[in-house]
Formats: sequence, C-alpha cells, structure tokens
Amino acid sequence: MTNAVRVIPIECKFGPISAFAYYVDAPEPAIIDTGVSISAQQDIEPILAEHGIRIEDIRWILLTHGHVDHLGGAYAVWEKTGRNAKVVIPNIEARLLRDKNEQIVDYKSLQGKYITDPAIQEKHITMLTADIGGTIEPNLEVVEGDSIHLGADITLKVVETPGHSIGSVTYVLEGLDWAFAADAVQMYGGFSGFPTIEDPTLYRRSVQRLLTEVRPNRLFLGHPFRNVNGELQSAQIEGEQVAAVLQASLEMDTKLSDLVKHHLTKGLPSEQHELYGPFGSIAKEIGYTGNPRNLPCAFFITMNGYYEELSGCKLK
Ligand SMILES: [Zn+2]
Repeated sequence: MTNAVRVIPIECKFGPISAFAYYVDAPEPAIIDTGVSISAQQDIEPILAEHGIRIEDIRWILLTHGHVDHLGGAYAVWEKTGRNAKVVIPNIEARLLRDKNEQIVDYKSLQGKYITDPAIQEKHITMLTADIGGTIEPNLEVVEGDSIHLGADITLKVVETPGHSIGSVTYVLEGLDWAFAADAVQMYGGFSGFPTIEDPTLYRRSVQRLLTEVRPNRLFLGHPFRNVNGELQSAQIEGEQVAAVLQASLEMDTKLSDLVKHHLTKGLPSEQHELYGPFGSIAKEIGYTGNPRNLPCAFFITMNGYYEELSGCKLK
C-alpha cells in the first residue's frame, strides 16, 4: 500500500473567487478539476512548473462535476497535453462537457427561473459560456465503484456524492483514504455566503456517507468554504477537522431545511422581494445580504432545491 502520494493544490483564480485543481503525482499523473478557461495558462502551468512538473505530462483529467469553474479549464489543459490526457467526468454530467448549451439549460432551470430581467440572464449566460475553453468528448464516464489506475499502486475510486450538483462524484485515493470531494461538501457556503445545493435530499445523504462510510483522512475541497462564524476556511482539511467540516455541512443543511419549512409550508408567497424573489422572508431571517444577480449565485439554486424538497415537486 502507498504511504503517501504527492498532491499539489492549485488555486485557480478568476474574478473575485477561486477554485482548486489538484495535481496527483503518479506514473500517470492526474489533475482533478481544472478551474476555468484561463486557468491552465494563468495558474496550473506556472504552479506545476515551480514544482518541476510539465503540464504536458498530465495523463488524466478527472472532473468531479460539470460546473463551469471546475470543467471550464479542461479543454485548455487537454490541449496542452497534445490531447493525450484522458478526460473523465461523472456519467450524469458528461453532457455538460460535450455541449456548452447544456450549461444554459441548467442555468435556466435553476437560478435563471428567479432572475426575471432578460438582460441580467443574458449577461450570466455570456459569462458562463465564456469560461469554458471548448467542448470535449470524454474518454470515460464514471459511476459509483469505478476505479482509475494511475500506475504503480495508485488508484482513485469513484464514490458518487450528488447533491451540490446532480452528478457530483468524489475521487478517493485507495489505501490513503484521501477524498477529493470538491464541491460535494459546502459547509456554511463559499464566497457568495451561501452553500450551493441543487438537491438537498441527495446532498444530505452524500455528506452523511462521507462522514460514516468513507471517513476520509484528508478532504480536498473545491473552494474555501465558511465556518459557522462566516469565516473562510482552508480547502484542504485533515485529521479531526474532516469530521468537523462534514458535521458543519450537515448542520447548515438542517438549518436551511427548517427555515424553508417554517416559511414556505403554505407555498410560495404571492409578493416578490426585489432581490430575493419568493424567498425574501428567509433572506431576512438569516441576515443574508448577498446579491443573487451577481455570479456565482448560490442563493436561488439552493432555495429552489429546498423548496422542491418540501413541496415534493419540481418547480417549473
Ligand atoms: Zn460546483
């Protein structure tokens, strides 16, 4: 069994936020997630070079899910490898890698439903699609239990951890139990001050599974997420902190679920808040002051998810 594997966290910066890519050293080196279209050139290549690693030697591009800030840079990294790296994505989200229009479909079915100004919608869609370097036909669409062998005895096992997005997976380094969960774990939310949870039922189950079944020794997340006091924490977590981070994520889930039950059991209010649409009373109660018209916007995605869970139906 492997004693240790070198992992290099690469912070991919864009606008006011950042997303982590992780280089996994192995005979067939892998990168887990890729930031956005500019990240290969701006962050990934130079940071690897500082460690004496050439981006062109990457053999695997492993995507945890199909959101733009994780998948958007895949094309540029793939190009840098002479298209030799194998590209891997969860089966359910492969459509997001193949076709930029699928990002627009998802946008319109989630936060786009609550953004009534067509000019703002258009601006969001332009931003989303510009952050994707190009479309790729994946080499492999993974599901629960699949393994990726990086050579020697280094193997990543696929654990499905949906909820943040419908198809999110966690790659777990076998033997070490290091979990690359990216956004499957949200704590009290990221930059926007709110966790992004598309499907709370799945999210809760995934976080519980990580806590009780996978029980990672290290947790590698997609962004710095906030603790209960609103402070941003490191995205690389180890030791006792792992369970604490998973517990914090479950606590925030309970809080949001209770809030939505309290405010929306009788349905959505007829009057709309200027910024928060039908969820104005919830924003007020938790003191949320973010602007959901700025991307990334977790507020509407998550409120939509919890309301759908409560009402037992998909909102149109
Ligand atoms: Zn995401």
